[in-house]
Order: sequence, then C-alpha cells, then structure tokens
Amino acid sequence: MTAKKEVLIIGGGVAGLSAALGLSQLGIRSVLVDKQACLGGFAAQYACKATSACVKCGACMVMEKISRAVEDPNIDVLTGSRIAQISSSEGFKTVITQKASDGRTRQQTRETAAVILACGFKPFDPENKPYGYKRFTNVVTNLDLERMLRQDSVPLRPSDGAAPARMAFIQCVGSRDAKLGHLWCSKVCCASALRMARLIKMRRPATEMTFSTSTCRLSAKSFSGSTTMCGKKFT
Ligand SMILES: Cc1cc2nc3c(=O)[nH]c(=O)nc-3n(C[C@H](O)[C@H](O)[C@H](O)COP(=O)(O)OP(=O)(O)OC[C@H]3O[C@@H](n4cnc5c(N)ncnc54)[C@H](O)[C@@H]3O)c2cc1C
Ligand code: SF4
Ligand code: SF4
Repeated sequence: MTAKKEVLIIGGGVAGLSAALGLSQLGIRSVLVDKQACLGGFAAQYACKATSACVKCGACMVMEKISRAVEDPNIDVLTGSRIAQISSSEGFKTVITQKASDGRTRQQTRETAAVILACGFKPFDPENKPYGYKRFTNVVTNLDLERMLRQDSVPLRPSDGAAPARMAFIQCVGSRDAKLGHLWCSKVCCASALRMARLIKMRRPATEMTFSTSTCRLSAKSFSGSTTMCGKKFT
C-alpha cells in the first residue's frame, strides 16, 4: 500500500479513534493526530456510572479504543501534535508539528489520500448564565462533576471538601435556549445527569437531589424507570 493510501485523522477522541480502528479493519493505514498529550478527548474524563450493574454509560469504551489504537500497526498515533499547514492537489500534503518530551518541536510532512476532521466539541461555558458558575465555588458543571466522580468516586463540595447534603441539577444550560440561538437539545445531558444522580444516591443514600428541567429527554432503553429509581420529580 502506498503512502497516499493513508488517511489523516485530526482529533483522537472517540470519533477519531473509531474512524482509525474502522479504517484499519479495511486494511487502510491512518495517522491519528491529537493536540493533547493523551488520546480520548472528553470521554476519557468521564466516570464509570455502574451501580449494582453496568448502566451502559459508554465511559469505558474510550479506554478500550485507545488500547486497541496504540497497539494497531495500521495506526500511527501522534499526540501533542498540531497541523501547521495543509494543502491539496492529488491527495493532501500536511505538515505536522509535534512537541517532544524534551520540549523540542519536531516537524514531519505526511501525504495522505483523505483527511477526516474529528475535532470534537467545546463545552458551553455557563459563566454568563444566572446560576452563579465561577461566582459561587459550589456551582459546578456536569463535566466538573464527572471529573470529581472519576477521581474521588463521590461528590465533594469544592469549598470545603465535605459531602453535600443536597444537590440540584439545572438542566438544558446552553441548550434549547432561544436567547443564545441554541435551539437544539444536546441529547446526552439528561442521561448523563440521571446516571450520576443514581450513582451518588447509591453511594450516599441520604443525599437529597432536585432536578430542574422543562423536559426529560432520554433516548437509551436502559433508562426506562430511572426517574422512579432515583425518586425525583421533574418540574
Ligand atoms: C455533559 C456531557 C456528558 C456526556 N456524558 C457522556 C457519557 O456519560 N457517556 C458517553 O459515552 N458520552 C457522553 N457524552 C458525549 C461524549 O462526550 C461525546 O460523544 C464524545 O466525547 C465525542 O467524541 P469526539 O471524538 O467527537 O470529540 P472530543 O471528545 O471533543 O474529542 C476531540 C479530540 O480532538 C482533539 N482536537 C481538537 N482540535 C484539534 C486540532 N486542531 N488538532 C489536533 N487535535 C485536536 C481534542 O484534543 C480531542 O482529543 C457527554 C457529553 C456531554 C457534553
Ligand atoms: S457503567 Fe459505563 S464505564 Fe462502567 S462498565 Fe458500564 S459502560 Fe463501562
Ligand atoms: S432536554 Fe436533557 S438532553 Fe436535552 S438539552 Fe436539556 S438536559 Fe440536555
């Protein structure tokens, strides 16, 4: 197979990893470039939400994909790397810069038949919404809570490290918001919040939890009955 048959994939999150592994199954080599030092994107920051059994949150899927990708001879992984220049005539010619561990920057040029953009998303910053994020220490985002559960297994109040007796989940912040021009439902946060609530309730049954949302949108089949399991009301 000539170098031109390679595919350049920009972004090594779940999407980029899946593309690289799928191409490899077809015998196509790829160069997987991520600007971060580690692969996995946001999904690598999520906690396992298993209670008495796996709740199919998908958080471990990314680790399994990373292991397969780094072992795969068809996938050339370049982390800590950025695209400096890209041009196309017959195929694509891309200059990639990579920061080495000694601090030096290395540069290489790759010729590929195609480019896949898998650069992912940027989480909404709720600083300007009226919920006190970045004004009150104990107001955190869904992603902050994921990281907390991944690191400490339980939620801890950032202000003093104590267990919160009451928690409120404010849903749809940044989505389904006509003032921002964001009319879409992001589809993942109801499921993600409920899974986290269920996990917290199992580990700390005394925690009182309130959900504030206009609609609860759950697509996964595994969620039937979750609202009653958590014992919460949707208002
Ligand atoms: C609040 C919330 C909760 C969620 N909960 C879950 C859950 O419990 N389970 C689940 O399965 N999914 C969950 N999701 C969805 C999940 O986060 C996404 O489906 C997944 O992360 C998308 O993967 P991605 O590869 O498209 O993007 P990302 O995860 O954003 O990865 C993109 C990658 O591209 C790299 N990159 C970006 N730009 C460049 C560039 N210019 N050059 C090089 N590299 C670049 C980044 O460093 C990153 O590694 C949740 C999402 C949100 C917002
Ligand atoms: S709950 Fe999520 S992270 Fe835990 S085993 Fe199941 S899919 Fe994997
Ligand atoms: S309805 Fe649920 S999934 Fe949709 S944006 Fe609101 S919180 Fe997220």
